[in-house]
This record gives sequence, C-alpha cells and structure tokens, in this order.
Amino acid sequence: MGYRNIVKDDDPMKTLHKKCRPVTEFNQKLWDLLDDMADTMYQAEGVGLAGPQVGYLRRVFVIDVGEGLIEFINPEILETSGEQDGNEGCLSFPGEYGMVIRPNYVKMRAQDREGNWFEVEGEELFARAMCHENDHLDGIVFKERAYRMLEEDEY
Ligand code: ZN
Repeated sequence: MGYRNIVKDDDPMKTLHKKCRPVTEFNQKLWDLLDDMADTMYQAEGVGLAGPQVGYLRRVFVIDVGEGLIEFINPEILETSGEQDGNEGCLSFPGEYGMVIRPNYVKMRAQDREGNWFEVEGEELFARAMCHENDHLDGIVFKERAYRMLEEDEY
C-alpha cells in the first residue's frame, strides 16, 4: 500500500498540461505505481486517476465506478456514440465542478499490467470516466472541456 501526492493545477511544472508518452516496460515499477494509484484514488474517493495526477507522465490510468478496478495502459478510444450532459469533477481540482458533454457510450482498447491487450465498453459514468482520464494523458483537463463551471450552491 502506498499513497501518492495528487498533483494540483498550481503545480509549477504544469504536469497536468503535458502529453504523456506510452508505457514500454511492464515491470515491478509499473505494478507498484498501479497499486499506489488505486490506493490513492480510493483514499481520495475518486472514480478515476491518471498517471500525470501522480506526477507520472506515461499513458496509464485506473478507474473504478463501483464495478471493480480496471487498469488501462496505453489506452485508445475505438468507438463512441451518443451524448451525455452532466457535471464533472477531478481529484486535481478539489471543490471545482463543471458541466461537460461526453459521449454516452465508449469502447476502448488498452493493455493490462502484463501487456496483454483487452477491450472494454461502458456507458454513462463509466464512459465519462474513460473520456476524462484519457484526456489527462493528452494534457487536457476537464475545465478545458466544460461549457460552464458550477457555482458553489449548485453542487
Ligand atoms: Zn481528472
């Protein structure tokens, strides 16, 4: 078990705004990182956490929307459809929420921690989380996608 500091937007290195490189080594170091990312996400009560949010500029994120933990390494979006309009937050932007339109259905492929490719599809919150976390790998944060940020009395 290990907890990592979650990078916030005031980070002078602008870590959250950098494009991540692919993961090339599937080794103990990656597995330790993935374990720590899951611990950190659960402790912070989030549903997803991406590499750059713990200062790791590689294409990796974890998601658990209540259906179990999934680790995504070098993910790619294969297919999207529909639309959902809803509020979104981010562990790197505590206390900030915004309205973001996302596809309602997303199909991705990614590698697991051993390097094996798998496909996964999801709707609603799961689809939203996959898009949000995948954006992090390209240095895009949800505030750049939000068409309106919420006021405090709207949470
Ligand atoms: Zn986020």
